[in-house]
Amino acid sequence: MERVKYILAIAVIFFALEFASGCTSKGEGTEKTYKAMDTVMSVTIYDKSERGKDVDKLLTACGSTIENYDNMFSVNSESSDVFKINASAGKSAEVSAETAQLIARASEISKGTGGLFDITVYPLSKAWGFTDKKYGVPSDAEIAALLGGVGYNKVSVSGSHVGLENGSGIDLGGIAKGYVSQMLANYLKSNGVQSAVINLGGNVQVIGSRLSGEKWGVGIRDPLDSEKTLGILSVSDTAVVTSGSYERYFEKDSVKYHHIIDPRTGKPADSDLVSVSIIACDGTTADALSTALFVMGSENAAEYQKANGGFEYVMVTKDKTVIVSPGIRDAFTLESDGYSIKTVN
Ligand code: ADP
Ligand code: MG
Repeated sequence: MERVKYILAIAVIFFALEFASGCTSKGEGTEKTYKAMDTVMSVTIYDKSERGKDVDKLLTACGSTIENYDNMFSVNSESSDVFKINASAGKSAEVSAETAQLIARASEISKGTGGLFDITVYPLSKAWGFTDKKYGVPSDAEIAALLGGVGYNKVSVSGSHVGLENGSGIDLGGIAKGYVSQMLANYLKSNGVQSAVINLGGNVQVIGSRLSGEKWGVGIRDPLDSEKTLGILSVSDTAVVTSGSYERYFEKDSVKYHHIIDPRTGKPADSDLVSVSIIACDGTTADALSTALFVMGSENAAEYQKANGGFEYVMVTKDKTVIVSPGIRDAFTLESDGYSIKTVN
């Protein structure tokens, strides 16, 4: 029954259906689920109960934090900072310091990844229907026109002012959940929590270790079979964030179109990868890099990691090879059949 202790997105969904509100005990922990950012989220605090009821208070505060950030970063809600920035294209908008700082961080990551992570792909995500679920394949002419507005140099941040060029738009969907999980982790740790799991729709961030002192087992979903676990990462105090082409897609004329856009082509990234998991201390970085490395493809991604460091990866290719960075190889156990494992040195 060791398996029960593993953290799987599937398990989170189950809990959400069973216990729509309030705190529930989960093994030795107390869990609360939230619906936000178009996904089901959960925070579970494992605590030796010295602080008793504080745990419920902390979980309620996590819910308010999530709601706040959802209102700030939502691309569709008219009162959000992101909406305000997009509505002010051609000028500049004054937003919260946090939004401005997150956008500045996104731009830094864009520079570092040669523009493959780029929040200005928004008009293309919209044209493909990923932002409102009105899916469709845009014409090449439409894509070419929209690509004119793509580029991290179209965004400028000065204090709390964010400027955006005419014809451009931004979407923080590739980085916001990682940022929120990092903020929740910081909050819980500053309140003395030593053992917790934050799962924001597959963006997992763990605090400390399990109460037994053992590491957490974070399950990575099998990208080709959502019922299965590809493998388990044995980790503590880290974020594990996965981007996969199976997460959000639509099908037209037997072709699948997924939601990770290659800023060079304006089309769903057509690399050799089906999923990328990034393991890094900082959730924000992990989230953005999972998207960027997916676009890069396995070879360039491995080179990027070697050159930059600071994180580890588990990448799965279309031909069922699992490529694991050397620094995390010993912590990864493959579970699914039919995959072969490779370590890049
Ligand atoms: P998910 O949000 O499903 O966990 P990701 O972290 O990979 O997955 O983020 C994908 C989201 O990021 C898309 O839904 C879109 O909002 C945005 N996005 C898509 N392509 C890019 C890109 N190349 N750079 C930055 N953001 C992107
Ligand atoms: Mg991401």
